[in-house]
Amino acid sequence: GTTAQYVGRFAPSPTGPLHAGSLVAALASYLDARHYAGRWLLRIDDIDPPRSSPGADELIPQALRAHGLDWDGHILRQSESSDLYDRALTQLINADLAFYCTCTRRRLGPSGCCMADCANQNHSTDDSSLRVRVPPDTLIEFHDRFMGLQRYPLGEHLPNFIIRRRDGLYAYQLAAAVDDGDGLITDVVRGADLLPSTPRQIYLQRLLGLATPRYAHVPVVCGSDGEKLSKQTGAQPLEAANARHNLLAALAFLAQEQPPEIGQSMAEMVDWSVTHWDPERLIR
Ligand code: GLU
Repeated sequence: GTTAQYVGRFAPSPTGPLHAGSLVAALASYLDARHYAGRWLLRIDDIDPPRSSPGADELIPQALRAHGLDWDGHILRQSESSDLYDRALTQLINADLAFYCTCTRRRLGPSGCCMADCANQNHSTDDSSLRVRVPPDTLIEFHDRFMGLQRYPLGEHLPNFIIRRRDGLYAYQLAAAVDDGDGLITDVVRGADLLPSTPRQIYLQRLLGLATPRYAHVPVVCGSDGEKLSKQTGAQPLEAANARHNLLAALAFLAQEQPPEIGQSMAEMVDWSVTHWDPERLIR
């Protein structure tokens, strides 16, 4: 048979400009897609207005371009997919796979799970979050291309995670499960900070009858404090003027060979890196 053409995506949240950590995730996903002659989509995960930073949804695409990373088609925005998320929520509610929870933050357990009896209460829709039911023995297994077989006892660790927040916003897990499960995207390459999210997204895809892409998680860049580099931990925005240096640093972090710098344009350096992309070097 024919194999589906590779389609990858980079899905930044517009919480701040591109920094060294997000460039690594973008580059890994780009190089992998292009190496396998795939398409590469850009999706802005803008479903959390309170956390978004003004201008980031324009700064990120600009910075990607400055680093030679060009996406296919128009920029996708989660804020334009509410219909899909609503339909998924309705599907789960109608199948009694979701329940309303009225717990305040203070009443929730350590992992944000509902420890009260909301699952059996038939709470009203007002002022409640929506949670998915996860039977206690639910074990999610998946093969990560870089990290190998993952076995996650979802029922034990996250028995009823949130799919729509109390303030009405869609949870990242729901939106990502729906978008990545559209049957078009074949490969998700992203930072290992999202590894614990993957079993939740796969679980939702299965409940909703959606497709599940292949997953590959790359190491996460940490700051001097050992925390994941992020705007919150003071990561500096990348300067377009340092694009070559930034590219080389990101390649080194991904254990990839360095392109010859002399006489190469930025685009040539990126093309060289596509040809020489060696995912084996990321297998742990
Ligand atoms: N938008 C989320 C983030 O930037 C998720 C990204 C993803 O699923 O790749 O952390």
